[in-house]
Amino acid sequence: MLEQARALLKRVYGYDAFRPGQADIISGLLEGRDTLAILPTGGGKSVCYQIPALILEGTTIVVSPLISLMKDQVDALNRLGIPAAFLNSSLGAAEYRTVLRSAAQGEYKLLYIAPERLDAPMFSSLMEQMSIPLIAIDEAHCVSQWGHDFRPSYRQLAGWISRLTDRPLVAGFTATATREVARDISEMLALRSPNVFVTGFARSNLALSVVTGVDKRRFLRDFLAERPDQSGIIYAATRKEVEQVCDELHRQGIAAAKYHGGLADDERMSAQERFRFDEVRVMVATNAFGMGIDKPNVRFVIHWQMPGDIESYYQEAGRAGRDGDDSECVLLFSPQDVQVQRFLIEQGQADEDRRAVQMSKLYTMMNYSRTERCLQQYIVEYFGEADVPACGRCSSCLDDTEATDMTADAQKALSCAGRMKGRFGLTMVAKVLKGSKDKRILEMGLDRLTTYGLFRDWAEKEITEWLYWLVAEGYMRVSDGAYPTVSITARALPVLEGKEQVYQKRKQLKRRASSASSAGSPLFEALRSWRKEAAAREGVPPFILFFDATLREMADRQPQSEDELLGIKGVGSAKAQKYGDQIIEVIRSFAATEGERPQAASAPLRSEASLGEGTDDQPSHLVSLQLFQAGHTVKEISQMRGMGKVTIEGHIIRAAGEGEPVDWSMIIPDGQERLILDAIDAQGADKLKPIKDALPDDVTYFAIHGVLCKHGIR
Ligand code: ADP
Repeated sequence: MLEQARALLKRVYGYDAFRPGQADIISGLLEGRDTLAILPTGGGKSVCYQIPALILEGTTIVVSPLISLMKDQVDALNRLGIPAAFLNSSLGAAEYRTVLRSAAQGEYKLLYIAPERLDAPMFSSLMEQMSIPLIAIDEAHCVSQWGHDFRPSYRQLAGWISRLTDRPLVAGFTATATREVARDISEMLALRSPNVFVTGFARSNLALSVVTGVDKRRFLRDFLAERPDQSGIIYAATRKEVEQVCDELHRQGIAAAKYHGGLADDERMSAQERFRFDEVRVMVATNAFGMGIDKPNVRFVIHWQMPGDIESYYQEAGRAGRDGDDSECVLLFSPQDVQVQRFLIEQGQADEDRRAVQMSKLYTMMNYSRTERCLQQYIVEYFGEADVPACGRCSSCLDDTEATDMTADAQKALSCAGRMKGRFGLTMVAKVLKGSKDKRILEMGLDRLTTYGLFRDWAEKEITEWLYWLVAEGYMRVSDGAYPTVSITARALPVLEGKEQVYQKRKQLKRRASSASSAGSPLFEALRSWRKEAAAREGVPPFILFFDATLREMADRQPQSEDELLGIKGVGSAKAQKYGDQIIEVIRSFAATEGERPQAASAPLRSEASLGEGTDDQPSHLVSLQLFQAGHTVKEISQMRGMGKVTIEGHIIRAAGEGEPVDWSMIIPDGQERLILDAIDAQGADKLKPIKDALPDDVTYFAIHGVLCKHGIR
């Protein structure tokens, strides 16, 4: 049976081999075993139930909480030649009835249903009318109270399923579940001796980083300027911040959209669609934007603040790189984020037990933000995985800052915490170390401890930071509950006994260099524009047709026939048939024009006589650029071409803005770039004069234009 599954993987999806876990999960299902599969985002969960659905008789029901995702899945399946449909609140009454009727006639291999729709009468009538071999439950962690995303409708659904006498196979899928949550899912769904698969949570294509102590706005501006062709999400904690960050991006000329709970439904919908259709490259959003996002080419996810737990963080960050290409996840951390999250928990509706769970999750998240260990390791260990090697690509792994011996300071702090015997919170320990005259300290006689005032010279904030660092590194622990206290752990003992040293990296917080820009080859770009048009004709997002990686492989291998096209990863037979001719046409016509294309950078210079104007194949601004690149100054070019200096400068900037390679150091003199960026920061980018006025006289308009262009600000 697995052979059959493998053949379908190739024929239908165009993939050569199963990803880790897929083959086991599929063969378990085909043998009739209930299943609980925990695969990381992008791990390929859908294939795990879609292939069995193709093999098993009848219609597989897929329960999914995400309306937009359902539509995408169904659109994608239909393009693969698989009959599928969905039932959710986005359908009108008539459409709804049509789908139900067709479902009853067994026309679909897969039927996606929102859990809210599956009430008792609906459920039993489906069971009566249809032959259902398998119920697949996506985002199965929503059934667990201990998870971070509990949904009552899932609980109800679990009830219906568990009470069925003649029930189909049941399989739960999720990307985020600690052991506790996994057990809970299995019990709640009443899985019968299930096959449980945990394939590992590590995502080898994600580079995680935590960035502390930077000016977030400047960080963002530089980050985006270094990645002008990449699409990504910025998560902010509040609506207000979403608005502010989005406005700022608009001022910089970046195509950004916003998404939060305060916007009308149609505004949110439109923002989401524009993002999915690649019309805007950056989405700024609260965590309301999320579960439905399966856009595969999200190249970065930036968190403007720390979220409340690792599950949320990893789920949100994990929306980067679903297509398997290298992607970045950056957490911009500042210590007050912790206060905000704590406040949210305290003000929340949850009962005391739940609040204690949330608080302890918050501390784990906080430790992530401060740890010097491999970030990927930290996360996967949280989900219960052991012995995972360091990733080698996160900000901790790449940090080669020299570590400082901090043993003496660690001993002082730990000894103080030890003497306070786990009865006080971290702030109190900090106050004692500071030698504070706080009334409570004096009342409790804490000023008589020998460690009182040991850090008298430190700022209290610094002491708190230091204590948090010791917590993050596991020398101290913060208890659960509404009034968390700190105590020392077993790891602190050898330090206190002088048997072990403590080293801390005093971070310079270098930013990671940008991952290789995916600015495509011209053919890749041509294929991308074909995809955009073709997708628009069908009213679906471009990625439903093909992923970037597939287009890139087409651009590399330039297939000339349908057969060759089938050899490309991500091209199955239905898509090859449907789009093959169009793609081959794009490739052929590209090859034909490419042969004659003038190569702006390498073409020999024309004689000066012809330099006065552009020609059909060489527009005027490119002629100026060519001369500039050949080493002529703007003044010389203006003389040669009989044009004004400002015109020539305009030519060069325009060409650079169109993506022509230029030597920036010839436009922006050494040392001026930073100055100019600061002036733009202070004056805004709307008008040039205030920027010029704020700068030393020797900074030219040309250099200012250059910086604006280089950083994509205008
Ligand atoms: P998940 O739901 O686990 O986040 P998906 O099911 O959306 O992931 O799969 C992520 C991407 O990986 C999809 O585009 C899918 O087509 C692709 N994929 C799945 N299985 C394979 C495979 N065996 N080989 C290559 N790509 C695959």
